[in-house]
Amino acid sequence: MMERLLKSASSVGEHPLEGDPGADLRSTVSAEDQGPLVSILIPAFNAEQSIADTLRSAVAQTWRQKEIIVVDDGSTDQTLAIAKQFEAEGVRVYTKRNEGAAGSRNLAFLLSKGDYIQWLDADDLLAPDKIALQMGELRSHESKRLLLSSAWGRFIYRHDRAEFIPTALWCDLSPLEWLLRKMGDNLFMQTASWLVSRELTEVAGPWDARLLSDDDGEYFCRVLLASEGVRFVREAKVYYRGPGVAFGSLSYIGRSSRKLDAHWISMQLHIGYLRSLEDSERVREACLNYLRSSQIHFYPDKLDIIKQADELAKDLGGQLGAPGLSWKYAWIKSIFGWRFAKSAQQKLLRFRWSFSRSWDLGLFRMGKRMNKLALATSKALKRPQGQYQRITASALSRRPFTIVPEGPIISFTFDDFPRSALLTGGAILRSYGAAGTYYASLGLMGRQAPTGRIFSPEDLEVLFAQGHELGCHTFSHCHAWDTPPDVFESEIIRNREALSKLAPKASFHTFSYPISVPRAQTKERISKYFACCRCGGQTFNVGNVDLNYLSAFFLEQSRDNPEIVKSLIDQNQRAQGWLIFATHDISDDPTRWGCKPRFFEEIVKYAVKSGARILPAFQAYEVLRAKSSS
Ligand SMILES: [Zn+2]
Repeated sequence: MMERLLKSASSVGEHPLEGDPGADLRSTVSAEDQGPLVSILIPAFNAEQSIADTLRSAVAQTWRQKEIIVVDDGSTDQTLAIAKQFEAEGVRVYTKRNEGAAGSRNLAFLLSKGDYIQWLDADDLLAPDKIALQMGELRSHESKRLLLSSAWGRFIYRHDRAEFIPTALWCDLSPLEWLLRKMGDNLFMQTASWLVSRELTEVAGPWDARLLSDDDGEYFCRVLLASEGVRFVREAKVYYRGPGVAFGSLSYIGRSSRKLDAHWISMQLHIGYLRSLEDSERVREACLNYLRSSQIHFYPDKLDIIKQADELAKDLGGQLGAPGLSWKYAWIKSIFGWRFAKSAQQKLLRFRWSFSRSWDLGLFRMGKRMNKLALATSKALKRPQGQYQRITASALSRRPFTIVPEGPIISFTFDDFPRSALLTGGAILRSYGAAGTYYASLGLMGRQAPTGRIFSPEDLEVLFAQGHELGCHTFSHCHAWDTPPDVFESEIIRNREALSKLAPKASFHTFSYPISVPRAQTKERISKYFACCRCGGQTFNVGNVDLNYLSAFFLEQSRDNPEIVKSLIDQNQRAQGWLIFATHDISDDPTRWGCKPRFFEEIVKYAVKSGARILPAFQAYEVLRAKSSS
């Protein structure tokens, strides 16, 4: 088999191959002054739209000791011709009969001679210094069994708009801890984020050609098992093309029977690997979570797999129960049954993805004509799509800060400061010995607002007496995107002046953007008034953050689903991050922006139990600042 492949490879490749392709090449690997050789290995199948960008990002690596190998998996489009245009820049190109990504990867590895391996799919991109930064993290005489990972962000057409969203895997971890988090929290690391030594690659064994789906997940499990642990290099970056679920691509499971079977094999292997490391309560719990979260793929078409999964669950000492469709689709199920509800969910996801792709393509083309800032302020885009706003808002005018992991922190914050947030929410916090942050617009004081009755001057006294924090939310609650940056700044000054009249000793230290994400210029203008400014984003803060744009999780968005919130608290606890909750009114009859006291208390209780320190936003910031400078 391999001989046939190599023959066809040699007819296309620049380097003719005879006998064992690796043997003589490997012996020529030298410890040159410029450091070890890194092989960038790219399997490609019908990737004519993206492979040129991928190859440019490989060629542009600032790490000079590199070789780049493309194995074309029998593409029927222009992939091979495009790849061959890069031969002049030293890229080696081979082709073979189509048989799947695993076969192409195994061949590419055989053809390579690097001391380190960079796997790269033909639609993803490396930042120019990705490999150099990771190699820079290796000290001399460091073990070859150390595995390097990097940050990665998703994009569709414009990689400069990629969103980097940290997960609990974005840190240094032992193999056991890494697998527990991956399986227990249903997380993953993008293939290109790894940099693996040849030694480790050889010990891990080849890619499994049976696995048409999640083959990278299974492969890196084995690499991990053979490793001494993961070192996460935060500054090194990979751009991952595609939406949450890559429809139409190799990695999308869909309803193909072969892919479902393959996915099940991969899952069983994962569970076997994790249990081989430790057979404990927490391992069994993580395996059960992993089974539960994947059940939806197999239901109801693959009842044989569901049955096997149930048995495996029993063996793990648990039960799976019925798989969960997202609640939005649950009503369809109750009327039309499972099969229909599931296909509705899939169709909707597909629709959403194709919409965001065409939107992104439009901006990509526009971006070629206008520079970033002109685009951000363009009148024609006064009300651009939320996704675009978020990306410019987060990428520009940053105030970088590193959260040093030394125990998790959770803050409870309330926007608009409705009375009930203090009288009911504040009382719940106090009963657990905690305090919160109230983001006030003094222009709304005493009024009835969409989020309920707003605080009165007497409430302010109570707030200070009880040790809560008062934060700023602009004077008249103005829209963070639609308001011109200079007007927005004057709103902050006005809110400060109003406060100094009401409570001369008080001052604002932290800020929350009303209604929307801010413009980049707004971030820049108001930065000087506050220690930190908070937005949304439905995640926690970990590692490198932007003090002008901290993430928060709005509780009301999961008020019917406390389990989601609890799992976030768990993730924050493991990542030792700073989780900021936000909401508005706390009432038995809440507005759509608020929560019920019972739900709120359940979350506060769980947060306290998680071992996190519960601090108002400014106190949390001061604790983190003290750590980062010590
Ligand atoms: Zn608000």
